[in-house]
Amino acid sequence: MKIQENSYQDIIQNLNDGIYFTDTNRTITYWNKAAEKITGFKASEVIGRACSDNILNHVDKEGNQLCLGLCPLAASLCDEKPREADVYLHHRDGHRVHISVRTSTIKDDDGIIIGGSEIFTDISQQEATMHRIKELEKLALIDPLTNVPNRKYIENEIEKRMKEFQRIKIPFGVIFIDIDNFKNFNDTYGHEVGDDILKFVAQTLSMAARPFDVFGRWGGEEFLGVIPNINKEDLNYLGDRLRVLVENSFILKEDEKLSVTISMGGTIATTKDSIKSLVKRADDLMYKSKESGKNRMTVN
Ligand code: GH3
Ligand code: MG
Ligand code: MG
Repeated sequence: MKIQENSYQDIIQNLNDGIYFTDTNRTITYWNKAAEKITGFKASEVIGRACSDNILNHVDKEGNQLCLGLCPLAASLCDEKPREADVYLHHRDGHRVHISVRTSTIKDDDGIIIGGSEIFTDISQQEATMHRIKELEKLALIDPLTNVPNRKYIENEIEKRMKEFQRIKIPFGVIFIDIDNFKNFNDTYGHEVGDDILKFVAQTLSMAARPFDVFGRWGGEEFLGVIPNINKEDLNYLGDRLRVLVENSFILKEDEKLSVTISMGGTIATTKDSIKSLVKRADDLMYKSKESGKNRMTVN
């Protein structure tokens, strides 16, 4: 199979990562769509200009101006070695964006360097998440095994959403999640592999969540999601999405693909609910999922 040249161009143009190419003088020759999005600069504003020309103004953690000295790209152009670095670039609107960059050289058919490339990812969101985890660790609100919020955090979250519901009528729902046949899994593969499964399920739930949804470890092999501003139908849809995601994910142990399924119960909070009654209702619905064959979501 031969892929057409313009297909590659389409792929590069539509990557989620920013990418730009330069010639050997670090004059920008290509700038993709994600680069426009992350930096705020249009391709037409930067192509033909040198990247040291006060456009991106990369600075490192200490505030050193990288573009004036030996920036990662210039260093790669000098010694032909690829580089990775954490830098802060200048957004067109003035603020700094924390990015992770990877630079390398571009060669022609004879192996002569004709320019460089820099690919960069916005990691500010990642940084915010890490910061949040550190703050929660300090307050003992993180489950140490899975690195997701613990039961105490979830109870606080439900309480907060209850107040919001009573005051400004923003509805919310909860999803109770229990791993199927987990005792059997531990017995077969050992407790440590079981722990790896718990971590991966916790991360799968967190990664699939919207920024305002919270998924935490309720205890053992049980997780609880608190989902604001949702109705029964969408809660069912969300749960089913998580179910399919977990079912189709796996960890590798000695080349064997190991996976688990989850059973879930979902319910929407009412004004009469307490934390206890709400979680119990979701737990009871989860048991209905177990009774009707596991690996499913029951909502009421
Ligand atoms: P069901 O499908 O009905 O939920 O069956 P199950 O085997 O998942 O449920 P059961 O309640 O019988 O067993 C739960 C298992 O979860 C038993 C326990 O060893 C395991 N478990 C609880 N916490 C941890 C943990 O931190 N690490 C590991 N590896 N296993 C855990
Ligand atoms: Mg259980
Ligand atoms: Mg279980």
